[in-house]
Amino acid sequence: MLTNRPRGTSDILPADIHKWYYLEDTFRQVCHQYGYGEIRLPIFEHTELFVRGMGDTTDVVEKEMYTFNDRGGRSITLRPEGTAGAVRAYLENNLYAGPQPVKMYYLGPMFRYDRPQAGRYRQFHQVGIEAFGSHDPGLDAEIMALAMDYYTRLGLSGLCLQVNSVGCPQCRPVLRQRLQEFFAPHREELCPDCQSRYHRNPLRLLDCKNEKCQSLGQGAPSALDCLCPECAAHFAAVRHQLDLLGVSYQVNPRLVRGLDYYTHTAFEILVGGIGAQSAIGGGGRYNGLVEVCGGPPTPGIGFALGLERIILARESQGLPWPRARQMDVYVAVADAAAADRAVRLLTELRSAGLAAERDYLGRSLKAQMKQAGRLEAAFTVIAGSQELEQGRVAVKEMSTGEQHTVPLEQLVDFLQGRMR
Ligand code: AMP
Repeated sequence: MLTNRPRGTSDILPADIHKWYYLEDTFRQVCHQYGYGEIRLPIFEHTELFVRGMGDTTDVVEKEMYTFNDRGGRSITLRPEGTAGAVRAYLENNLYAGPQPVKMYYLGPMFRYDRPQAGRYRQFHQVGIEAFGSHDPGLDAEIMALAMDYYTRLGLSGLCLQVNSVGCPQCRPVLRQRLQEFFAPHREELCPDCQSRYHRNPLRLLDCKNEKCQSLGQGAPSALDCLCPECAAHFAAVRHQLDLLGVSYQVNPRLVRGLDYYTHTAFEILVGGIGAQSAIGGGGRYNGLVEVCGGPPTPGIGFALGLERIILARESQGLPWPRARQMDVYVAVADAAAADRAVRLLTELRSAGLAAERDYLGRSLKAQMKQAGRLEAAFTVIAGSQELEQGRVAVKEMSTGEQHTVPLEQLVDFLQGRMR
């Protein structure tokens, strides 16, 4: 137990952290360019928020939440997604009272008790955005453009953006009824989950992963067949805007988000080469959600993208990662008498803004040089007592092997000059 992490979690080691910085920094940059500001939300919330926000018929709420009572006896849940918390923050901080739309982004870990496999974990990381307060179909198109822009900047190719409209509370009862009529003759043959969905949430019959349910669903009515004029116009406008922005997409009429407060646009982004879990992002409009959470009627739209799956996709496409930040200087000690001065030297280099490292294991000079190589230090400063007495040190430029003797008072300038 002590040396095993819980299933479905992972350690991100210092040797890999540059990948995460790259994904996070690029996301921050794109979001900033599209006018989104970062919000940092709690990692746990009151359980009720997720039950309301995600709906009690969703798999996540029914089976996958990490829920516990805290010491005060309140039911707490580790966040399985970011939208509900963002809605709560929008309301709690009266952001609805300020200028709209409110455009926010977040990044961080999410928690779902699911069966772990490649691309599916119990603690995973998402980046996401939420925009509140605008019905503009141009915003629907723009957030899809933002997601695709992000993937493109990361160098990913072979992506498929699938788009659908799931209608609104006016037209959805028609779809629900038509779906029930369609599946009625085959009810007994559906998987147990779908038998329950048949009554509670028939839209979800469309996205069951079970093969039998999928084949029974061939030819089932889709949301697009049942859209009211307003929803049809919104969807047409979203498609027009996507064309305007030069974003290519496919319409997938089977894409659903089965809850009443999910309205109009639903989308998902798929990529090949990473196994069964090929969805690297998804999102949609939720014009009813703010109200369901106790706020004024407020349109909203957002997406979430899975970072682990982006890493898998980049690696399957053989894309190189930007280099990890490297060590500028390794301070090696040539003889014991130089040790104290070397420590001061190290501090001076760090104060000057350089990344500097030394030996902590009493290594020989030769072993220290080897260690400097392992750390990929750009320079090694060799502090020997004799030279220090003369106010100098030896500096080895590791890429060329060139060695220089440098007066101590010029050391920082020398190193910074060479690095430039
Ligand atoms: P969702 O919040 O379910 O719409 O998921 C949005 C994105 O998060 C998905 O497209 C995946 O890329 C990622 N994701 C969702 N669940 C997991 C998981 N259990 N493990 C890893 N990534 C996930």
